[in-house]
Amino acid sequence: EWCSINEIIKESIKYFDEGLVNKRQIVCEISNKDLLINVDFVLIRQVLTNLLDNAMKYSKPDSQILINVRNNEKQVEFSVHDQGVPIPSEDLEHIFDKFYRVRSPRQISGTGLGLAISKGIVELHGGSIRAENSLDNGGVTISFSIPLTEIPTNTPEEIGDYHE
Ligand code: ATP
Ligand code: MG
Repeated sequence: EWCSINEIIKESIKYFDEGLVNKRQIVCEISNKDLLINVDFVLIRQVLTNLLDNAMKYSKPDSQILINVRNNEKQVEFSVHDQGVPIPSEDLEHIFDKFYRVRSPRQISGTGLGLAISKGIVELHGGSIRAENSLDNGGVTISFSIPLTEIPTNTPEEIGDYHE
């Protein structure tokens, strides 16, 4: 369905409880005026929610979380950047695997599925997702791009495995 990017972002932030959001400074940088994309709204919102959940879990209260959206005529790229702990380089290529979690000294709970689900959803839309550490101010940036012309060819049911 055709969805507004601004609406997807707004809805993905709404999912978090207000107290938690207030402790973070969530900044949205949206380059252009609102854009309509042909995606499954609920699924793409879920990807953003997963990325924001990680950004909040793996960074300190009072730090900043930056949501950025850029597009060209071919694709739109969303990114979520936080100022938390970087991901060790040997783990970077594995964090999208099911149940993979980086060993961390602080016990932060999770199942290791958020990014695997996100990758599945992005790929259903013909897109790709990647993670990188920021060299300048620390923290992690996860970006995913969705082709603008491509209409989803698979139905959401096909990722049913990930749902429970
Ligand atoms: P779940 O999302 O299923 O509750 P999770 O957050 O551990 O659990 P993923 O979202 O798949 O699982 O992330 C996998 C691992 O990647 C995490 O355990 C964490 O070690 C690392 N990671 C993901 N996002 C970040 C981030 N923004 N900053 C630092 N580490 C991250
Ligand atoms: Mg997660």
